[in-house]
This record gives sequence, structure tokens and C-alpha cells, in this order.
Amino acid sequence: MTLPTMEIHDVVARAEPLGEFRRYRYASSLRRRYEKLARFPEHYLVFGDAICSFNPVYGQGVTVAAEEALTLQQCLRAGSNDLARRFFRAAAKIVDIPWEIAVGNDLRHPDVKGARPPMLRFINWYIGKLHLAATRDSTLATAFLKVVNLTMPPSTLLSPVIARRVWQGNRKPGLSVPSPAIEAASRNSASS
Ligand SMILES: Cc1cc2nc3c(=O)[nH]c(=O)nc-3n(C[C@H](O)[C@H](O)[C@H](O)COP(=O)(O)OP(=O)(O)OC[C@H]3O[C@@H](n4cnc5c(N)ncnc54)[C@H](O)[C@@H]3O)c2cc1C
Repeated sequence: MTLPTMEIHDVVARAEPLGEFRRYRYASSLRRRYEKLARFPEHYLVFGDAICSFNPVYGQGVTVAAEEALTLQQCLRAGSNDLARRFFRAAAKIVDIPWEIAVGNDLRHPDVKGARPPMLRFINWYIGKLHLAATRDSTLATAFLKVVNLTMPPSTLLSPVIARRVWQGNRKPGLSVPSPAIEAASRNSASS
């Protein structure tokens, strides 16, 4: 048992595969910095995944594309003059946070290549602690989901209220035993 909590083990141990394993074709997240170009062709734009495609497990691409669409609408309201430069600068700001979430989280896995500056190592250590405490604290689980679903900024996970709950949650013994939700699911499947 190498996983920090039992939930995935408990589900997988009882599950039956429906077919062969299939892998995503995405080799990596990819970001192209069009906002840094000195020149760009007129009457032409790049959009959505062509600006930045994320590891699909984080489910961010459609949200980012929708935000870019709203931004493009605003840019067009100001006319078509210098459109590409204005749009790419605004799109880069939309991409920044989901990019940090996706790439930063991928770097939690030791096999993923990439630089891990001290701040990233701290954040990933902290998120690991948050995940552990969140198995028993729905406030933490909700706060985390709001960030990965891009409705709240990542900084909310470092607020004093959340940090205190992370600390308290990790002081409790027995974090590696099945959560109440998994125990209830086991009872239901045993009685049906
Ligand atoms: C497995 C998987 C799961 C995902 N899950 C989620 C999720 O849960 N939530 C989420 O938000 N995002 C998710 N995404 C990401 C999301 O699908 C993309 O971010 C989003 O579709 C990007 O939209 P797009 O219009 O930029 O590109 P696309 O949706 O890829 O559209 C590009 C279109 O252009 C067409 N095309 C390509 N080349 C040419 C050509 N030369 N001529 C004409 N047409 C062309 C393609 O056929 C395609 O229809 C997932 C992605 C994958 C791969």
C-alpha cells in the first residue's frame, strides 16, 4: 500500500475492468506565448487549445476557451485595431492560473520532468496535506474543488481559515483508514 489514503484502493479492489486500458493522447500540456510576439498577421487570431492545451485530467480547457470568447467579445467592442495584440495579452492572463494549477500539480509526480523551485515544492507539499485533511473535512474539499474548477483563485487555499483546518486535519490520527463515505458505500454494496 503506497497511497496516502485507502479510497482508491477500496474502489479499485472491488472494481471490474470494462475493457482494455486506454491512454490520453496528450503527451504534455502545451502553452504558446503569442502575446510575446513583436508582430502578428492582421485578420488572423489563435484561440482555445491552440493558445494553451492542458493535461485533460484537470478539465480546464472549455472554461478557458469560454473566458477567451468573452474577452474576444470585449476586445472587438473596442474595434479591430491592434486586435491580436490586445486579445493575446488578455488571453495570457486567463491562461496563467489554470496553467500554474495544471503544470504545478503534474510536477507533484516524481516522474514528470521540470524545474521545482522551493515555492512550488512548498505548495505541492501543502496541497498534499490539504488533500489528506480534505478526506475528512468537506470545507477543505469544497475549497479545493472551487480552485480547480476555476471559480476561486488558488490564494484562497492559503487563507488563515483553510491553513488552520489543514493543520488541524493532519493532527488527527487515522487519516489512512477508509473515509465515512467509502464505509457507507461498502455497507450499501454489501447489503444490495
Ligand atoms: C480526453 C479529454 C478530456 C477533456 N475533458 C475536459 C473537461 O472535462 N473539461 C474541460 O473544460 N475541458 C476538457 N478537455 C479539453 C477540451 O476538450 C479542450 O480544451 C477544448 O475542446 C478546446 O476547444 P478548441 O475549440 O480550442 O479546440 P477543439 O475542441 O480541439 O476544436 C478544434 C477543431 O478544429 C478542427 N480542426 C483541426 N485542424 C483542422 C484543419 N486543418 N481544418 C479544419 N478543421 C480542423 C478539429 O477537428 C476540431 O473540431 C478535454 C480534452 C481531452 C482530450
